[in-house]
Amino acid sequence: MTVVTRFAPSPTGFLHIGGARTALFNKLFASHHGGKYLLRIEDTDKKRSTQDAIDAIHDALSWLGLDCDGPVISQSAQRERHAEIAEQLVTAGHAYKCYATPEELTEMRARQKAAGKPTRYDGRWRDRDPADAPAGVDSVIRLRAPQDGKTVLQDMVQGEVTVANDQLDDMILLRSDGSPTYMLSVVVDDHDMGITHIIRGDDHLTNAFRQILLFKAMGWQLPIFGHVPLIHGPDGAKLSKRHGALGAESYREMGFLPEALRNYLLRLGWGHGDDEIITDEQAKEWFDGSGLGKAPARFDTAKLTALNAHYLKATGNSKLAELIKPNLEKAAKTPLTDLNTQRLLAGMESLKERAKTLNDLTDSAALYVRQRPLDLEPKAAKILSDVAIAVLIEARKSMEHIQPWTADAIEKWARRYAESHDLKLGQLAQPLRAAITGSNVSPPIFEVIAIFGQDETLSRISDITKDH
Ligand code: GLU
Repeated sequence: MTVVTRFAPSPTGFLHIGGARTALFNKLFASHHGGKYLLRIEDTDKKRSTQDAIDAIHDALSWLGLDCDGPVISQSAQRERHAEIAEQLVTAGHAYKCYATPEELTEMRARQKAAGKPTRYDGRWRDRDPADAPAGVDSVIRLRAPQDGKTVLQDMVQGEVTVANDQLDDMILLRSDGSPTYMLSVVVDDHDMGITHIIRGDDHLTNAFRQILLFKAMGWQLPIFGHVPLIHGPDGAKLSKRHGALGAESYREMGFLPEALRNYLLRLGWGHGDDEIITDEQAKEWFDGSGLGKAPARFDTAKLTALNAHYLKATGNSKLAELIKPNLEKAAKTPLTDLNTQRLLAGMESLKERAKTLNDLTDSAALYVRQRPLDLEPKAAKILSDVAIAVLIEARKSMEHIQPWTADAIEKWARRYAESHDLKLGQLAQPLRAAITGSNVSPPIFEVIAIFGQDETLSRISDITKDH
């Protein structure tokens, strides 16, 4: 059997972080088994589904490296097929037409409520002759669900879960306007797409029982279900807006790398021993359906951030430069020159050691893009007191003789210079940092000075000292 999984988002908004995890699990499970992972857009609710949301889902999946294998299915395009199956079920006697009017059903529910009973369709048209159909009432099609016995689900995650069939009423498959219900569409599509395994959030666990009844009524092979607990926030409550960002694309905007988010989501509800850093290759090798937890995992931004810092350090310098380039250019309001790019690449090793996100990296890398004369940050301006400027004026003269212009040689010079001028190293290095970077913080300053080169460094010092 070839394993076929699917991710089936409803395009009513961004790609939820929980949805991204579902997509990841389905993709990994399929690729572990050498199978296929498909994408179905559940766009039957035309009022709530938007093209923007569909585009956003595709963008986020592709950013996360979770593109599907094969063409994307639109659920609404299969409408006629869904309706056809409902009619087939009627013909086979597994479904029937119900002519109850909305008023009748409202009254039925009110009576059930008053009697303290659960509100369920009472099967009033289940065995009635369609010849009794009242004139002018459009029928719905309902599943003729078993009334006794039980439905058992062998869930990959939840284990065996049982529901008594008298808890499940005869659900509507086709509405009176001829439109298929969600439950019908999902089952027909899963069958038609040849889905063998369905991994999804446990908010769909109760739907699974109704879907199983429908699979059985059609005599179709049941897929294997795995209902994963929803992601919770750090306080243990279901993840919601108040816990922060819910959309996968927000994590992109916050400067997270897709590989870090993938690794993080993988560990949310699935484990392989104590492994925290898991490569894509290992994930594919290990994700065989075991190791999925029954307890809801808690989203922990600090953990995600730590993973991201790890992946940043592991990313090549030119790739990082490419990734931050658009935001860097936006911040600098100018395209990166070749010289700036060279400097950025030379400084990247130290920059990435200190950054946790691409946004941190962009902020710190701006150092290599700013043009002189620099606008001093307030803290840098404070460092550049009259005394500090007097130090710079003298030091600059000596710096003209530094040979070779390397971080090592510059540092050796600085130590010797400070000692012979009765200065602490900081009394020289801090004014240099302020003058050359415009800031009071930077990567190791002698490295930065080496990267800027002698001419640029001396000019930057002159910019600061020339009016004194
Ligand atoms: N469209 C459903 C959702 O977005 C998923 C349905 C399913 O996975 O069966 O929650």
